[in-house]
Amino acid sequence: LITTHGLQKYFGSFHVLQDIDFSIAKGEVVCIIGPSGSGKSTFLRCINQLESIDGGYVTVDGEIVGYRRDGDKLYPLSDREIARQRQLVGMVFQRFLLFPHKTVLQNIIEGPVGVQKRLKAECISEAKTLLKRVGLAHKTHAYPGELSGGQQQRVAIARALAMKPKAMLFDEPTSALDPELVGEVLGVMKELAASGTTMIVVTHELGFCREVADRVVFMDAGRIVETGMPTEILENPQNPRVKNFISAVL
Ligand code: ATP
Ligand code: MG
Repeated sequence: LITTHGLQKYFGSFHVLQDIDFSIAKGEVVCIIGPSGSGKSTFLRCINQLESIDGGYVTVDGEIVGYRRDGDKLYPLSDREIARQRQLVGMVFQRFLLFPHKTVLQNIIEGPVGVQKRLKAECISEAKTLLKRVGLAHKTHAYPGELSGGQQQRVAIARALAMKPKAMLFDEPTSALDPELVGEVLGVMKELAASGTTMIVVTHELGFCREVADRVVFMDAGRIVETGMPTEILENPQNPRVKNFISAVL
């Protein structure tokens, strides 16, 4: 569903992503782990076209991201087409980016009504279903400031799902939360995974990786260093850098 081929990314002269080959199939859950600064967020941002790419290419749902193929030529997409492509992938960030002056319901329907121009009544009814799914039906008309961090993050997940993306990207969605609020967000993510959502999850929650991931990818210094089943990577890593990281996190 998502692939990257020889993906290269520079910030100035700093080579932040070095030749990343990656793929995730429909319904698969891949967790990305690795030290701070290894390029995990940048990788997700390249998939979602929040960063430009300096070499290689990315595909989402069979389309080359940012380009249209015609024969063997590639043509850059218009802003409008890029906006459409970006809706194929939902993203949840470390910090909840809800509109503070809008209610939970208004936050969730903003994308489908305002951007996708879908029928408001239909979007409201879907938003209510999503709020039940994340356990927040009783907060429909609350404002973000009235919610805990964990509740805000669950709204952010519902808001991303409201756009009906083909895949969801999570960038350390629980790392800004108080420890007692982490479980409720991971619980929602587990339910999403169990219901067949294609997910790439950057996380330091190794328990979540072990329980939910089909595959774990370890990134270090802009490269994929090791990839495999959670049991292989977490319990029997081959690369010494992976070993060190895992023993430091546990
Ligand atoms: P963390 O676990 O701390 O979130 P990460 O693996 O997500 O780290 P990235 O945020 O992708 O790492 O950053 C990778 C490297 O690129 C870091 O060295 C960072 O300082 C650098 N970097 C990130 N964004 C930019 C930017 N906009 N301009 C310049 N350098 C950047
Ligand atoms: Mg990051």
